[in-house]
Parts: sequence; structure tokens; C-alpha cells
Amino acid sequence: MNKPFAIRVKFDLLKVGHCQHPECMALRSGGRRAIDFPALVGLIEHPQRGLMLYDTGYSRHFHEATKRFPECLYRMITPVTLPPPEEELLAQLESRGIRASDIETIIISHFHADHVAGLRDFPKASFIATRSEHTLCKQKNRLGRLRRAYMRELLPQDMEKRLQYAEMMPLIPLPDAWKPFEAMHDLLHDGSLLGVDLPGHTASQLGLAFYADKPIFLIGDSCWKIEGLIRGKKPSPLAYLVFDDGEAYDATFAKLRALYLSPHAPLVIPSHCTTTWRQYGGSRRIQRG
Ligand SMILES: [Zn+2]
Repeated sequence: MNKPFAIRVKFDLLKVGHCQHPECMALRSGGRRAIDFPALVGLIEHPQRGLMLYDTGYSRHFHEATKRFPECLYRMITPVTLPPPEEELLAQLESRGIRASDIETIIISHFHADHVAGLRDFPKASFIATRSEHTLCKQKNRLGRLRRAYMRELLPQDMEKRLQYAEMMPLIPLPDAWKPFEAMHDLLHDGSLLGVDLPGHTASQLGLAFYADKPIFLIGDSCWKIEGLIRGKKPSPLAYLVFDDGEAYDATFAKLRALYLSPHAPLVIPSHCTTTWRQYGGSRRIQRG
């Protein structure tokens, strides 16, 4: 069995567009003023397996996919600001000497548009996601998909051929520092990138754990702002109306908070957290050429 985190990777955090919601949506009893929800993307360089992404953020494909009814409702409910040209994912990669074809693998937290809108820009990449999340986003009913914020138009046509399911990868036990998480799926079969289901926000969501300059845990939308874990503040009851399973969300949130408050906690990175972005994002640890 592979030892967890024996292989270290390089990691950068990128911001690719944002949307806005009232603060109280993310943090119960927060203010009503609109705050930014940046769409954060992980760029990972594995010493043997090359370059990978965790999600893709927003892209111009989002506006194309939301032009028509009923998909335009998504855009009306969530005011999205697409990345300016220099903040587009492909432009940010290019400025580091990275071409789209250099991205070997994209790990998908879940299939909401703000996480998968750029998938079609990476024709050579293979994908890793959870089976239950992928199965739901394939449902035939267009309105049903929209109700869950899935847009099939954003997915590459050959998605199925390029996709592997995280649940199929072997489970390996974690060091005590990661309690209450005890085991995760060994996504690359070498102990470097470990995936775990974080259900609630959607039916299933893939969190990603690895060791870069420090242990890092990318948690998708399991918590929107790190202040939620710091203060124990969950999202507004309104947000629970769009969650797949409120009880599962609470259980995931409780586990993440216990980990966050533990003495050797990893750096926990929610996908839409401005504070974490300011503290960790924007560096250039990965640069080619
Ligand atoms: Zn999101």
C-alpha cells in the first residue's frame, strides 16, 4: 500500500472570475451587503505525472450556455462576473509557459457551472470525479439539471471516455493529523493526491488532500468562507434550500471544522473564500519555460 503524501507536489491557487451574494448567504447572521465569491482553481505540478487542475472556474462558455431559457435563470439568480482577459484560466496558464495541452488531469470537485465551465478548453486532459455526482449531472430532464445547477452544455462531448471515478481508486489510511478523516482514495495510485467525498452541498463532492509546501486540503463548496469554520457559522437557511442534503452538509461541515481546529490541521481551502485567496493565492510557485 502506498504511503500517504510520500510524494510532494507543487501547488498554486488561481482566481478565475467571481460571483456575488449577500454575506449572510455564506455566514449565518452575516451582513446583507453583497460580497465576492471568487472562483478558485488549484494548479498542481506532480514530479512524474505533470500538470493538473482542481476545477476550472468560470469561462466564456458559461455565458454561451446560459443565453437561452431556462438556463438564463441561472445567470439571473447568480450575478456572475466573467474573468477579464488576463484572468481567464488559459491566459493565466500561458503566462506561466503552460499550454492547455500540457494539462494532464483535471480533478472535478463537483459539476456546478462555476467549477466546470472551462473543461472544454482542455481537450487532452483526463478527468477524475465522483460517480454519484457525474450520474446526477447526466440526468435527461433539462429543468431537473438546471434545478441542481448542472449544465450539460459545459461538458466535453467525450467526457465519458476521459473520466475516472474516484470511488474506484483504493482507499489508504491517513496520518492522525487528518482526524476525523481516516482514509481517502488514492487518486493517482502513488499516495500523492488523495480524494474524499464531502457530501451535502451536492449529492457528492470530491475534496482533494496533498502535501505541497505544507499539507493542503481543497474542499470545494463544503464551506464557502473559511470564517465559517473559524467561528462555527454555517450558511443561511436559504442556502440549504439549494443544497442537496442539509443533514449531510452539516455532518461534512462538522468534520471539516474539527479538522480545522485540530493542532496539526492542513491548510483548508474553500473554493470561494476571499480570505484564503488573499493569504495563499497569487504566487508563482509553478512556472514553465
Ligand atoms: Zn461553487
